[in-house]
Amino acid sequence: MLILTQLFSGKAQKSPFSKYPVYTGTDLGISYTPQRSVFKIWAPTARAAELRLYHSGTGQHLAVTVPMVKSKNGTWVTTVFTDQKNKFYTFRVNINGTWSDEITDPYVKAVGVNGKRGAVVDMKDTNPLNWEKDRSPVLKNPADAVIYELHVRDASLHNSAGIKHKGKFSGLAETGTLTPDGNRSTGLDHIKDLGVTHVHLLPSYDYNSVDESNPEAGYNWGYDPLHYNVPEGSYASNPYEPTVRILEFKQLVQAFHQQGIGIIMDVVYNHTALTEKSNFNQLVPGYYYRQDKGGKFSNATACGNETASERPMFRKFMLESLLYWVNEYHIDGFRFDLMGVHDIETMNLISRELHKIKPDILLYGEGWTAGASPLPDSLRALKANAAKLDRIAVFSDDLRDGIKGSVFEHADRGFASGKPAMEESIKFGVVASCPHPQVDYKKINYSKAPWAASPANTVSYCECHDNHVLFDKLAISASTATVIEREQMQRLALSIVLTSQGISFLHAGTEFMRSKKGVENSYNSPDSINAIDWTLKSLHPGLNGYVKELISMRKKHPAFRLQTADAIARFIRFSALTIPGTIAFEIDGKAAGDEWSKIMVCYNGTPADAEIPLTGKWEKYIHENNRVIADPQSDVPGSKEVNKLKIASYSCSVLYQQ
Ligand code: CA
Repeated sequence: MLILTQLFSGKAQKSPFSKYPVYTGTDLGISYTPQRSVFKIWAPTARAAELRLYHSGTGQHLAVTVPMVKSKNGTWVTTVFTDQKNKFYTFRVNINGTWSDEITDPYVKAVGVNGKRGAVVDMKDTNPLNWEKDRSPVLKNPADAVIYELHVRDASLHNSAGIKHKGKFSGLAETGTLTPDGNRSTGLDHIKDLGVTHVHLLPSYDYNSVDESNPEAGYNWGYDPLHYNVPEGSYASNPYEPTVRILEFKQLVQAFHQQGIGIIMDVVYNHTALTEKSNFNQLVPGYYYRQDKGGKFSNATACGNETASERPMFRKFMLESLLYWVNEYHIDGFRFDLMGVHDIETMNLISRELHKIKPDILLYGEGWTAGASPLPDSLRALKANAAKLDRIAVFSDDLRDGIKGSVFEHADRGFASGKPAMEESIKFGVVASCPHPQVDYKKINYSKAPWAASPANTVSYCECHDNHVLFDKLAISASTATVIEREQMQRLALSIVLTSQGISFLHAGTEFMRSKKGVENSYNSPDSINAIDWTLKSLHPGLNGYVKELISMRKKHPAFRLQTADAIARFIRFSALTIPGTIAFEIDGKAAGDEWSKIMVCYNGTPADAEIPLTGKWEKYIHENNRVIADPQSDVPGSKEVNKLKIASYSCSVLYQQ
């Protein structure tokens, strides 16, 4: 339950909206029982409001119009004393003598096709069999997470997926699916086999851009929110029947939980798809959005508007929405799009409240915006303020671009593709953006100081859905390299991600050289660009097995998952190497509670082989050519004693002492 003072506290900017009443009840939207349905909206500037009930989600069939009564703190309410199950509804409000369009309520939990109308459902009807027994996997520490970022439709659409329900929630929940050669798993089985701990689903709430009545006609990532508390209809087998998308999304969550994998939702509270015509803005003009000095919608998102998380009723909305996804859908974490738009106080309130109901919830986001915001930088959840965020991580673009080159300069290379002088950016990634005495912060590509208070503050990655996928980035920026060299670069890049401290993050398909055919921003590209071609898995079994083994090593060895900045500063020692483009570091496994007393990780980001001296006798875990020495299936890889190490070009080696 929300506490009044939490909504009011803080340094929120003064605005004309600060005089608006705040409603602190948690019953906005609809409260349904068979005996009665209570409809409640917040519209403090309205002079009149009405509820319109329909027999269907589209078309005419208006059943009745019911006037609403002004109630406390800006709310309007009406109660219908007959069973409204399976009815649809909209609202209209009259502000300054003008009636709004017919709109849904932001708190709506079920909708008809394309979200044109809200729907009255009994949520009990939406639970899969044994839903009450559904249990999330336990995450002991945030840095234990290995996240796999995936778009629902991309996973199953390609014929090579061998999945029956193409592009649907239910397709991603299928098991027993195989590549066309019949030899390799696809979809959920593949993800389970790879060993990741969480799947991060690109937007799966109801977004605006794909016509749910004809999803084949369009594609979108879904960063254009329409209804925050409803699953997207184009991923449902029937978008017209409101309970179907809810049931099928829950079945997807359940299917992953049964395999021990958590589900993270990508959430986009920073803007709405519609601006003047959004349901938020028609109910309470201007209130939910920030304005520039001229009173116009400000645009830190580059999407036409930015929401105002510092205002109590949007703060409340975000918090209640997130709590709802955890309680109703058993969601295990959230990735906040353009989190730098939101204020720190709201993010920390959200984190505290979510951790109360799910102590191991995983929260992270983009610590930047896509434009200037009127809210001061010091108040927003930017990367530079990451240490002020309570149990929330931000993406390390320092590591991302340090590994493979700037996402903005297509020809730019990174450490893994042979660019000189990137060592400190990589070392900064290895220590998860924390303070470390051996990192020269002046030489880091972007940040000039450590910004993380702990490894749980940092998401370590080298690519995501945005910008070129790793394979395409290497093909463009390292175009003179051979195909074989580029595969080694890809292996080195992924090795750095998975041997760095912090939360590991992989983009789906990178483990078998997924390509988007050079398309940089595929947010609305056709399936021919976005869908995962699973035949690549059959073509690159070595890379897939290698990534799987890196994940397995990381999960077995706590030395790669240190929990505090202090441990990182004390247990990791970089070697004083003289060859530019090479990095080696030792982790004190004994101090970290690892079964290996010492671990040595070496990266060679140069086109030439390099030889580094070793003190003491080491055993090899990963061979000098980015390959696992033993059969990846075996629990204990074979080993070989060495006292000096040749590291091949563009490769990673991991050695250990028992
Ligand atoms: Ca939709």
